[in-house]
This record gives sequence, structure tokens and C-alpha cells, in this order.
Amino acid sequence: MDHFTYSNGILHAEDVSITDIATTVGTPFYAYSAATLTRHFQLFQEALAWTDHLVCFAIKSNSNLAVLKLLGDLGAGMDVVSIGEYHRAKAAGVPGERIVFSGVGKTREEIALALQGGIRQFNVESEPELEAISQIASGMGVTAPIALRVNPDVDAKTHEKIATGKSENKFGIPIAKARTVYALAARLPGIDVVGIDVHIGSQLTDLEPFELAFTKVADLTRALREDGHNIRRLDLGGGLGIPYERSNDAPPLPIEYGQVIQRTVGDLGCEIEIEPGRLISGNAGVLVSSVIYLKQGDGRNFLILDAAMNDLVRPSMYGAYHDIIPVVQAEAGVEQSAMDIVGPVCETGDTFAKGRNMPPVGPGDLVAFRSAGAYGAVMASEYNSRPLIPEVLVQGDHFAVIRQRPSFEEMLSRDSIPEWL
Ligand SMILES: *Cc1c(COP(=O)(O)O)cnc(C)c1O
Repeated sequence: MDHFTYSNGILHAEDVSITDIATTVGTPFYAYSAATLTRHFQLFQEALAWTDHLVCFAIKSNSNLAVLKLLGDLGAGMDVVSIGEYHRAKAAGVPGERIVFSGVGKTREEIALALQGGIRQFNVESEPELEAISQIASGMGVTAPIALRVNPDVDAKTHEKIATGKSENKFGIPIAKARTVYALAARLPGIDVVGIDVHIGSQLTDLEPFELAFTKVADLTRALREDGHNIRRLDLGGGLGIPYERSNDAPPLPIEYGQVIQRTVGDLGCEIEIEPGRLISGNAGVLVSSVIYLKQGDGRNFLILDAAMNDLVRPSMYGAYHDIIPVVQAEAGVEQSAMDIVGPVCETGDTFAKGRNMPPVGPGDLVAFRSAGAYGAVMASEYNSRPLIPEVLVQGDHFAVIRQRPSFEEMLSRDSIPEWL
């Protein structure tokens, strides 16, 4: 459920009309709903209410400081995959003891800065990384809390670019090798082994891969405890999918996911961490765009928008589907026609949808891409020198711009021309 609904024929974010936001900030822009972010976070809190836990929001899905502040104030931890994201978590007021550092290639500099600023745990993805953390922590005279990310070799049955739990993926330590690497971790100075980490992929629409992976983690927990390790925390990653296509079957609910966790690892007495991103932020955001032209092609009609692949790359990068709806509600029973919905960027890949049935819309009309709150603004670029688009946060009957659209001057000022030119 989200808080983007029609009221008096106009799409609203909570109690604010999308048309009003468009008039104020111009298009294209992202709009997020505070109530939806809150609700989705609380669903995970409820799903894990049976145990000691921390829900760490995966910042990479939506890293705006206002979004992080909102979630952090609700008690969320943060899952970061770069020191830049770490700085964002801190700037949003989240203390180091609620920040988990994931990612396959943490640099020595990133490790040192996180140790300095305080960190809940590093999710370690390789032996060389483990050794680097040991050296840096001992050099600083501190102890680094770590979990090893294991690769359970489970097929997440999701898009190949976001599946991470198969042995051929670059992520984690093969689970069969885990006991050896844990033994090494226990011997290394400056390392405190606190738990096990696993993350098998994103946009999972079936609970079975989670069940398989978590069962393997439970077995590993028992084996490691036999080996003398004090495994007290399990980080089960993120990955629960959302319904991009509303007509399709709904993916599992957080409460059902929580039951899988309880069933598989619930009897181990471990603190549970999860790292959801998409399920919290995805349906909490829309991308709003204006129609520039309606172009009659050779047997096709093109709806040309002022948003493009640089603003929302998911369709061209993953072939992802987004519902695209008119901001002014179509009249009931109105005839729809198939259109290719495209942006102005000079690439054929700049196509949001092909042959999509749309009610009549024309130049100047607003359309909204649903489910654009995750992996939307964060993946945007300024390709074609299109300035990054603004982000807006709605709460109840008011809204605020939480990232300004840069002026052309600001965009150009990031370049510099050497004096010898
Ligand atoms: C991407 C990622 C997540 C979040 O995945 P979602 O599908 O957005 O829930 C969590 N943990 C790690 C390590 C990730 O790489």
C-alpha cells in the first residue's frame, strides 16, 4: 500500500496534489511520501517484533538525507556500501553503532574512516579484506566488529544483474569455505567476530530462496559455534521485492518474510539484522514528468517526455517495468491506445515502455511513474547535460524540496578549463 491516490480526479501524494508540486518545482521531479516510508519501515519492525533486531535501511536504494533522517528517527539502522553513504547516514543523525558497512570492495581509506567514526559491523566479503581490516584496526588500536558475508549458492530467481547469492557471483565467501575463513578471523588481531551475513539478491518475489539461504545460515551458525565462535548476530540482507506491475501477483509480505526468518533461524538466540531497501523506498516515490510531444511514427505513436533514462535508468538498464499513469485521472471507459513512451536522450535505449496502453494524453500533460522511490534518483546522472532533477518529500498536507534542481551554472561550475588551454 502507498499514499499516491487520485482525489477529485488529480493524483495526490498524501494530501498534496501532484499538480501543485509540479507548478512549484517544475518537471521532471521525484516525490516521496513520508507516510509510505514510515509504514513500510514499520511493517519490518512488526515482522521481527518476536526478536531482538535492527532494520538497517539500504541507503543505496534512496540516499536523500531527508529520507534517511525520517527513517533514522524511527529507529532504523543503515546499511552502507561506500564511505559516501556512511557520511550520509552520519549527516542524517544515525550513530555509528547503527551503521553496517557492506560491499565487495571497501578501500583501506574507507575502512579507516568507518573505524574512526564508529561502526556497528563490517560485512566482510573476502580474506584479503579481512586481513586489511585486521591490519588497519590493530594499527589504530581498536577492534573491528565483523560478520563474514557468505555466498550460499542459492538461485534468487531474480534479474541476473541483481542476483548475488550464486557461487558465480562476485559476492561473499563460498559457504563451504566459511569455517576456514572464520578460523582465520578468530586468529587475526583487531577483529571481533560477531556474526554471519548473507544477501542473495534484490527484487525477490518468492520466499523459497530466502528459506534455502537462511537454512544454510542456521546450519553454519551451529557449526561455527561448535568451532568455538561466539556467533550472536545474523544479518540476513535485503531483497524482498515489490509489485511493480499492479496487475500481477503480489510478492510476499514482510510479515511472511519475518515468519521465514523465525522458522529458519529463530531458535538460535541471535540478534537479527535485515537490510531492506526497495521495499521501504520503492513504492514510496513517484517520478513526475510532462509530455513534450506526441509523435505519430510509422505505425507507432511515441509519447515524448521531459524525463529520460538519465533520470530513471531502470527500464533501459534492467528492462524494468514501471506503471505510468496520467496525473489527471482518465475518465472511466475512455479509449486507450498503445504508445511507446520515451525520453529525449539520444539513445534508443531511452525508452520507458513499448506499446503501453495509455488514455489520451498530450503535450503539457503530466504523467507519473509509480514505484520510482528506489534505485531512481540514486542512479540518476547528468547524461546529455540534463541537470539532476529535484526531489520532494510530502508529509500530510505539506511538502518540501529535499534536493534542489541545480542551475546550469552550478552544473557547469563543476568542470574547469586548465589555464594552458
Ligand atoms: C542492494 C543491497 C541491499 C538492499 O536490497 P533491496 O533489494 O533494495 O532490499 C541490502 N544489502 C546489500 C548488501 C545490498 O547490496
